[in-house]
Amino acid sequence: MEKYETHTHDVIVIGAGGAGLRAAIEASAQGASVGLVCKSLLGKAHTVMAEGGVAAALANVDSKDDWKTHFHDTMHGGKLLNNWRMAELHAQEAPDRVRELEHWGALFDRTKEGNINQRAFGGHTWKRLAHVGDRTGLEMIRTLQDRGIHTGVDVYMECTITHLLKDGDRISGAFGYWRESGRFVLFNAKAIILATGGIGKSYKVTSNSWEYTGDGHALAYEAGADLIDMEFTQFHPTGMVWPPSVKGLLVTEAVRGAGGILTNNKGERFMEKYDPERMELSTRDVVARSIYTEVQEGRGSPHGGAFLNISHRGAEYVKKKLPSMYHQFKEFAEIDITKEPMEVFPTTHYVMGGVRVDPETAQSTVNGLFACGEVAGGMHGANRLGGNSLSDLLVFGKRAGAGAAEYANKINNDVKVHDEEINNAVKEMLEPFENTEGENPYTVHQDLQDAMGDFVGVFRTKEKLHEGIEEINILKERGSQLKIEGSRMYNPGWHLSKDLKSMLIVSEAIARCAHQREESRGAHSRVDFPNYNDEVWGTVNSVISKDSSGDMNLGTSPLPQMPEELKKIVEGGYK
Ligand code: FAD
Repeated sequence: MEKYETHTHDVIVIGAGGAGLRAAIEASAQGASVGLVCKSLLGKAHTVMAEGGVAAALANVDSKDDWKTHFHDTMHGGKLLNNWRMAELHAQEAPDRVRELEHWGALFDRTKEGNINQRAFGGHTWKRLAHVGDRTGLEMIRTLQDRGIHTGVDVYMECTITHLLKDGDRISGAFGYWRESGRFVLFNAKAIILATGGIGKSYKVTSNSWEYTGDGHALAYEAGADLIDMEFTQFHPTGMVWPPSVKGLLVTEAVRGAGGILTNNKGERFMEKYDPERMELSTRDVVARSIYTEVQEGRGSPHGGAFLNISHRGAEYVKKKLPSMYHQFKEFAEIDITKEPMEVFPTTHYVMGGVRVDPETAQSTVNGLFACGEVAGGMHGANRLGGNSLSDLLVFGKRAGAGAAEYANKINNDVKVHDEEINNAVKEMLEPFENTEGENPYTVHQDLQDAMGDFVGVFRTKEKLHEGIEEINILKERGSQLKIEGSRMYNPGWHLSKDLKSMLIVSEAIARCAHQREESRGAHSRVDFPNYNDEVWGTVNSVISKDSSGDMNLGTSPLPQMPEELKKIVEGGYK
């Protein structure tokens, strides 16, 4: 029997980005004993990389803004596939969550009157993004971390959760390993909150870091929870294209928000063709497809992108409002963006699909399992508006924390962890060391990334998706027979062997949902079905779950009915 250490809490939060921290703070405030587990160092989550800002109808710059307009914009951005109640709560509660951050010490940029400043972003009717230059996420994480530490949350860093444990139909704990020693660890918990972020590393060109391997999506799926709308992966229109070492690195939408202009190699401002009204501030799905099309049709920049120019705003403005972008291009590409245009191309950025949750409590379809932030689905429908992720994670992080604490408080103490589950987890984790033959996980990962880019990318067809699914099936087979050399002490190959399993689940879910949805909507573009099919697909979410024989079950479920008063807001041109 393998030895492992054990920790016991009412609530375990997996993930210490904005969503996890906000959830932990709330659960702790409600009296729960909380453990916060993260794969890397505290503060190194994706939230810290967020640049442009957090969307909230504070109406500090455009006084006409209100929650109804934010709700309207979010629903239209999501092509009406959003869970209406999540979008409503999000729009109503985001301003309070941002003000609360300020009370906890966050220093946002200011208007002349001394209020929190707000900037324009794609798809938002009014200037709505509260920001700190282009380093908003850093300030958010700093503030939430300080708050979390002082409210008595126990932090377990560099610890990867590999399995969720269940007692009958409810959650009883989580199992994982310390990245440094490779030793196993068990967390007994009445409730678990998944806050693990996204899935970007399933693709080669991505703005995401090594941590985004879809672990939370896979953990939820394995525990029996529903995943919804997995076909909707967001390709951010502007990633760096050159040099190759930084391909995919994000160029914040704040550049376009500040007046950045997109042109092709003929000097044409091509957004005039694709969205003459909103131009560069059209929604991400539209701008990404426009750049892709320009390049495909031979009007790309020297390194296969489009030109994005902000130099007309002057050096002082650019350095003040977009300091990270200025340094990013100067250091990595030797380009001075105050004088020259950038080259940009779409990059895998965000996943709208995720764990199906109850909007009020963020509980998944499994008792005691909650999800918030990027790992949760429903809020953003078919396409997320910029800035709506940071506000989403604040609103639903708080709700998940409260929901989990309340759940943990209600259930009795006899939730059991079963030895058999732990033994199975240990066996699975150690298998790659025991295999005498097998592949290197890096090769399989690379082939998966190629397959996702080639077959499940920005533009999709039935044939390509079919090929993609076949390829993923082969990769699943290869991924089940991996061989790892060396010991368990800090062994990145071993870590990848488990991450790869998560990415394979997530990739299969994306490809199969994309194959099923025979229409184009938001971030999902089918060349063979270029239009909306509202009658068939405008009324349903795609649903993925694991069936009793262990196979991936694919289906749909009807969208919840929206109340009449909200329908009026959605149908009205709310300006
Ligand atoms: P994260 O902040 O990524 O945190 C995930 C946590 O889960 C990490 O602590 C990680 O270690 C942990 N974890 C993962 N798997 C495991 C595991 N198996 N075991 C233990 N821990 C695990 N959105 C906006 O609204 N506005 C912006 O301006 C903006 N800019 C962005 C810029 C960039 C470059 C990027 C990449 C994203 C940006 N986004 C922006 C999106 C936004 O930052 C993310 O969607 C959001 O921060 C996700 O927060 P999260 O808390 O859900 O996940």
